[in-house]
Amino acid sequence: MQMWDEITSRALGEGRSYLMEHEAKALLEREGIATTGAEAARSAAEAVEISSRIGYPVVLKVLSPQVIHKSDAGGVKLNLNNAAEVEEAFTEIARAFGDKELAGVAVQKMAPPGLEAIVGLSRDPTFGPVLMFGLGGVFVEVIKDVSFRVLPVTEADLDEMLAEIRAYPLLRGFRGRAVDLPALKDLLLRVSAMVMRRPEIRELDLNPVFLYDKGYVAVDARIFLEQPPASPPPRKITDLRPLFYPGSLAVVGASDTPGKLGWNVFRNLLEHRFPGRLYPVNINARTVQGVPAFPSVGEIDGSVDAAIIIVPAAHTLQAFEDCCRKGIKFIVIESAGFAEMGAAGREMEEKLRRLAEKYGCRFVGPNCSGIINTHHNMVQSLGIVGELGRGNIGLIAQAGVYAAGMLWGMRHTMDFAIVATIGNKADLNETDFLEYLGEDENVAVICMYLEDVKAGRRFIDTARKVAAKKPVIVLKSGRTEAGKKAVSSHTASLAGNDQVYDAAFRQAGIIRAADNEHMFGLARAFSKQPLPAGDGALVVSYTGSWGVAAADALSLSGMRPAELDAETRRRLEKILPPHVGVNNPVDCTFDLNAPQLRDIIEAGLACADVSSFIVVLQAEILHTYARELPGIDFRGKPIVCCVPGKEFAMKEVIALEQAGFPVYSTPEEGVAALSAMYRYAVRHRTVIPGPP
Ligand code: ADP
Ligand code: MG
Repeated sequence: MQMWDEITSRALGEGRSYLMEHEAKALLEREGIATTGAEAARSAAEAVEISSRIGYPVVLKVLSPQVIHKSDAGGVKLNLNNAAEVEEAFTEIARAFGDKELAGVAVQKMAPPGLEAIVGLSRDPTFGPVLMFGLGGVFVEVIKDVSFRVLPVTEADLDEMLAEIRAYPLLRGFRGRAVDLPALKDLLLRVSAMVMRRPEIRELDLNPVFLYDKGYVAVDARIFLEQPPASPPPRKITDLRPLFYPGSLAVVGASDTPGKLGWNVFRNLLEHRFPGRLYPVNINARTVQGVPAFPSVGEIDGSVDAAIIIVPAAHTLQAFEDCCRKGIKFIVIESAGFAEMGAAGREMEEKLRRLAEKYGCRFVGPNCSGIINTHHNMVQSLGIVGELGRGNIGLIAQAGVYAAGMLWGMRHTMDFAIVATIGNKADLNETDFLEYLGEDENVAVICMYLEDVKAGRRFIDTARKVAAKKPVIVLKSGRTEAGKKAVSSHTASLAGNDQVYDAAFRQAGIIRAADNEHMFGLARAFSKQPLPAGDGALVVSYTGSWGVAAADALSLSGMRPAELDAETRRRLEKILPPHVGVNNPVDCTFDLNAPQLRDIIEAGLACADVSSFIVVLQAEILHTYARELPGIDFRGKPIVCCVPGKEFAMKEVIALEQAGFPVYSTPEEGVAALSAMYRYAVRHRTVIPGPP
């Protein structure tokens, strides 16, 4: 404690945020982290004295608050074996850095060679402290083979983190040399614990650490300090259920004029038969779309559970305060023209927040397209939305189009429970909604389209909890490096925005989608099919090449074609034409009729090693399969369909999808969905009903 304060206050007092090697190492040693140490020598004689005390060979390094990369400028002298060499090295360093402010020359033990690694820490604006690990030299410099985890970490997080780097085999052992993994994990845990206790550590580099078959040693250390930002205020906890299932709803700005957004919103509520009381509020209209209107929220008699505001931005604040005064606890602001427009808009959002604080209410948006809850017949969208089935998919979207335009098509092949748009999230954000959807009994799968995440740590903790119950699939846009920040350490320069998101998602058990097609493809599988109990799949294809593609894709994604036992082979022999060999993939050589497909699947259902099916079907006769498949009892074994050219047979594709069979264009997409389900099942050790 004392040493920490002494070293950091000296540095800060001298106006430097950079701790020199001997200072950083002293602090690390106190944490139980092994280093080569470093003692400052002010003269050649002192350097020799230290050297003979600690024992040769030694290393001398420049110590200066102005020199961060010591070896670049010739400030590191390795493998010095006697007093003469130490004296010479000292003189050379003193000469080379004569123009710099010198705190002396560091003298330390020369460490025996080991596998060079880098351990680092940086602070991410969204997720806070982020730990990095990689192997040194070209691995980090050229290949950037590093992995990240958001702190705090568990031991399981560290196992995954280490296994993630491509050079992992070198850690596990290569040509008879392995690394002491328990010691390495202990180092990572100690660094993490130190950083969690010391919010003033902004960046930290141990570069390199030498890893041995027994133990490790940090030979270089850098720490950068910064006054920590004030911690965010404690979160208001609110049960969001009334927002998703309101008994009564006021619509401020509901319009009687077709073409206006306030018309659309109200029309959607009426058309989808919102089950509670609806109060259109419009100063100029006596009725809105046939429903008696109120000139202001205050004039509604009786209590109101939630309100939608869809008026021009300039009138929003007033409308919002009216709702607050009325005692409405949940307000959805669909109006646009706020933070997305610049400083004046941000200020208005700040005012909204203050009002919400004062009146104890929560709000969605602004600049969003409201909430859809098919189980409550509630559609608040800005765009007209056609008929929706009641489903089990929850979608949280940072873009209004997901609750309007995109639904127009998607509703044919997927059924949503809830679609919640978050807009500018001036108050309620993605994590609040995620937490709620985790609880909602009608939601079985959660998709999120995000552009950024607020309060990253809470997001990870919440997602981890929710993902243990239901799959959480996230599409995060803005993957290319944004928000360039000034960084000093090597770690911080590698901890790009997207890498950190990636690490955070992995830690939370989130399934990351590459694009919309991928996200909704995964969602359809999770939403319609049970999880596979094992990794063996039966591939059935109307043609050889697609079957091979499916088998390849299975092997590449941690699954495999199932082993067929003798009984299954006998059954298949009877089903298949005589010229076709019995294999998995079952290749029907362009001759797979629907009854055959049913018989093959029945054979697979009886085979113990088959836990799932991937069937490649012919678009031309898709209607025949679409009639046959729904009649089969799959007994808990999932099936995914691939129909090359499916876009030309959409009627049948929709029929299959609506019967509960996800359909993909290619075997690779189908396998991607199946393997995501398998990984999810393994990760969460979900109890899956086994084969009968
Ligand atoms: P820089 O400021 O340039 O990062 P380092 O202290 O990391 O300087 O030293 C440069 C290199 O010298 C290290 O990557 C390591 O290979 C070697 N080195 C430094 N200190 C020691 C030591 N005590 N024992 C063995 N090798 C060392
Ligand atoms: Mg270094």
